[in-house]
Amino acid sequence: MLKLLREIPPIHQIQEALLKEERGREFPHDLLKQLIQEEVNDLREALIKERYTGKARDRHGFQSEIIASIKEKMASLNANHLIPVINATGVVLHTNLGRARLSDAALDHMMEVAKSYSTLEYNLAEGIRGSRHTIVEEAICKATGAEAAMVVNNNAAAVFLILSALAKEKEVVVSRGELVEIGGSFRVSSIMEESGARLKEVGTTNKTHPADYEQAVNDETAMLMKVHRSNFAIVGFTSEVDREQLASIAKKQQVIFYEDLGSGALYDYRKDGIGEEPTVQETLAAGADLVSFSGDKLLGGPQAGMVAGKKELIDRLKRHQLARVLRVDKFTLAALEATLGEHLYKDGTNIPTIRDITAKAEEIRKRASQFKEQLEKKCSYYKVEVEASVSQVGGGTMPAVELPTYVVAIRTNDYPVNELEEKLRRSEQPIITRIKDDKILIDLRTVTTDEEAVILSELVNSDH
Ligand SMILES: *Cc1c(COP(=O)(O)O)cnc(C)c1O
Repeated sequence: MLKLLREIPPIHQIQEALLKEERGREFPHDLLKQLIQEEVNDLREALIKERYTGKARDRHGFQSEIIASIKEKMASLNANHLIPVINATGVVLHTNLGRARLSDAALDHMMEVAKSYSTLEYNLAEGIRGSRHTIVEEAICKATGAEAAMVVNNNAAAVFLILSALAKEKEVVVSRGELVEIGGSFRVSSIMEESGARLKEVGTTNKTHPADYEQAVNDETAMLMKVHRSNFAIVGFTSEVDREQLASIAKKQQVIFYEDLGSGALYDYRKDGIGEEPTVQETLAAGADLVSFSGDKLLGGPQAGMVAGKKELIDRLKRHQLARVLRVDKFTLAALEATLGEHLYKDGTNIPTIRDITAKAEEIRKRASQFKEQLEKKCSYYKVEVEASVSQVGGGTMPAVELPTYVVAIRTNDYPVNELEEKLRRSEQPIITRIKDDKILIDLRTVTTDEEAVILSELVNSDH
């Protein structure tokens, strides 16, 4: 292989060849040269270490291989890495796929704010500087019954801000049954440590009593914190202290009662028979001084962390330096404002998250049957069934809830089903599916009718 080293074409020659093509000419010259240099170095090293696996044996061959590889690199460097996908998994708040999809109203509002200058920090009535805090505060207050509210980057940021601003160098009492980790990257105990607040654990994993909290409070205590068990359930021999009791203990001892609600539903999913998620409204009504919750979980909005509660506490949070560090941008505020509007002034079902979680199994079954019919009409390659199954809420929310659904289950004839899964996943508009018992499952709960057509045509194109 060593004598092939002499056949590697010189850099300038490769560059000249690439400059003859439009893509090569448009590409920044320095960057192009760098790509060629890297490619040549890699090739030289592969030849020296006898690791070269290409077919070229002469200068011409190497030149074509290098050029082909550089063209691929130029294309991928310029391609987007955040790509829209079709979520056919039935997991509504799929964290890996970006959690909540936004409503049309939110999209429109984001777009108009992105195109123009806006009143982000401008008071139109008086022609003076305004505050971005006021943009959604009233809407959150109306939706939750809180005195005051603010928004930060996400709920983890909200927890961090609250602990830093209100409990630094003080103690925060938390039940051992609520020291949760969410999604592998959010741990209550770690956030607490970072914030400078001191964790005071009480009770046991399965049982915590009012007296545990009462006895834990002393001069060093800043707050009682309740953490919603978003992503797991403790069953069996359990007891926890309810909100009303915690509120009354906190009041008597003159400490803050803060609840990290995690999901934070404004829409009452229980009326559709789904889960036991308390609404933000009722948590505040039960006496919490402060609550925090995510914007892109059950609320169905953009990534954000909402804090709602007593005005005196919210004012302290707004004044804290971290509020500036954790502040949200205008797109988030635009999307949030429109989403809150859908909650407040309509029934919320224009919000994709709410629409998809509350979609009835029977509706989905009808769509699945039509899909099966259409697919069978267009190609006879697959074996297609409609099967009863379950969808999940996702996002670490309502883990115990199984939403009844019907899936389109597709079997391939003579090639492995994971090949079809990969084909769909790597198609121009990627389609994410599940495999179970050698079948591809497509759950239309999380698929729009437009996307259905894309899946159909991709399946038709993929038959062997
Ligand atoms: C999801 C969750 C968080 C983190 O919220 P993000 O908006 O993802 O930062 C914090 N606490 C609880 C209880 C949660 O469920």
